[in-house]
Amino acid sequence: MDAPLYLRPRVDPPLASLLTDRPFLHSLVDALGSPLNVLLPEAVAENAARFRAVYRRHRLTGRVYFAHKANRSSALVRRLATEDPAAVGVDVASLEELKHVLGCGFTGDRIMATGPKDAAFLWLAARVGATVNVDSPGELERLSGLVRTHGLGRVSVLVRLAGFESASGHGGAGTRLLSRRSRFGTPVRETESVLSVLERCADAVEFTGAAYHLDTTGVEEKARALEQCVLFMDECRARGLAPRALDIGGGFGVGYVAEAEEWERWTTALTEAVLGVRPPLTWRGHGYGLHNEGGTVRGAAALYPAHRPSAGPGYLDELLSLPAPVLGRPSATLLLEHLHDLYIEPGRSLVDQCGLSLARVLDVRPADSDSGHHLVRLGMNAGDMSLEEHGVLVDPVLLPRGETAPGDEGPVGVHLTGNLCLEGDLITRRIVFLPRLPHAGDLLAFANTAGYAMDFHAHHAQRQPLARTVAVEGQGDSWRWCPDEDYWPITALGGTPG
Ligand SMILES: *Cc1c(COP(=O)(O)O)cnc(C)c1O
Repeated sequence: MDAPLYLRPRVDPPLASLLTDRPFLHSLVDALGSPLNVLLPEAVAENAARFRAVYRRHRLTGRVYFAHKANRSSALVRRLATEDPAAVGVDVASLEELKHVLGCGFTGDRIMATGPKDAAFLWLAARVGATVNVDSPGELERLSGLVRTHGLGRVSVLVRLAGFESASGHGGAGTRLLSRRSRFGTPVRETESVLSVLERCADAVEFTGAAYHLDTTGVEEKARALEQCVLFMDECRARGLAPRALDIGGGFGVGYVAEAEEWERWTTALTEAVLGVRPPLTWRGHGYGLHNEGGTVRGAAALYPAHRPSAGPGYLDELLSLPAPVLGRPSATLLLEHLHDLYIEPGRSLVDQCGLSLARVLDVRPADSDSGHHLVRLGMNAGDMSLEEHGVLVDPVLLPRGETAPGDEGPVGVHLTGNLCLEGDLITRRIVFLPRLPHAGDLLAFANTAGYAMDFHAHHAQRQPLARTVAVEGQGDSWRWCPDEDYWPITALGGTPG
């Protein structure tokens, strides 16, 4: 067999120690079924503290808003509700998320409403005193109309901007490049329309700042957007408006793969496999967006950069330290000089290391006669664990049920298949290398699935069971658990007063 190409996950404590407690994890799946999601509410609070430390280092004020859409859990939101109200809030993108966070203990003044909004969502956000992150002049008009019709208090609004320009780049000197096109936000060139609505609707809305959220890992692109928002807010002040906060959205990223070398080796091998100079790395030679055009690799790999030199709070630190392209001073200095609060909306990065997804191995058999690879069928489907859907490639951790039998040793390449009666139901299209061949009854633990992977795409197809979700907490050498919906941050898990 070809040498194993591992992409082993980055696991920090306490997730790392949870993964070493095989009997505990097996007992959970025995009791609650496969698949099973496990969350660590303490870890989300730790992550919030790390983001706050970056604020302190740059002497910035403002709030960290958890982007709820990354995970449906109650435990994570309830745990965050106990944090300093001035420091931690929550960003909701639907009416149901808004109802959920109110029931988890967030007061309206700690809530930011983003995303597409219908009248009910706008009304409840306004009713409870949330900040509304408005997408367009039209939405601002609708919100103002609701406030007037229903006699609501003035609503705090942020204006989401998009279409930021750069004066340089690949187009050559003097060429104006736009940031990647987004279907959200008002283009910076068209802000006049928003400003006039803000002035006309000042009785109904209080303009508190500008916002952006860019779907990119590029830190320069974000620094450019940050500066253009600061300049826009200067323009607003000159017109008598008084914005005081800049919301730079989320997208700070997560490092999933521990070793840079493994990531580089794998991506190089993918290119070679697409060119046909090495055996396929994937089911039926899938290329993750790359293809062979007469001996040359074309296309762009649709992959998340799974190993990252800086991610999460480290990425925020980098962004804040980067000089603004026109004004030249670090982004953090611009914010300080203007006395702007900094708002961020981390989703994925705030739930980094906060959970894992477990699947029972149901069946193992040879894939074909000559590759030496195996098919490993799991009690889970591609909707239950959707790292692949987001282009995130990382190995699961094998948790054997019993002791290793003789002859089991040595790495194997496996195809991980799901429990749907569908050719396409692959947990990952890549051949995954495991340190030894799994057996029916073993578990595979997918680490770091709390961000978008454990419940975002889960569905009821074929009436397969949806994963249950539990919250766990370390207590001495053991772990306590409870169903996610029963977690309240007032007692130690298991009911002992904390
Ligand atoms: C999705 C989203 C976020 C969170 O993005 P992450 O990449 O998970 O940090 C924040 N703000 C807005 C407006 C979003 O749409």
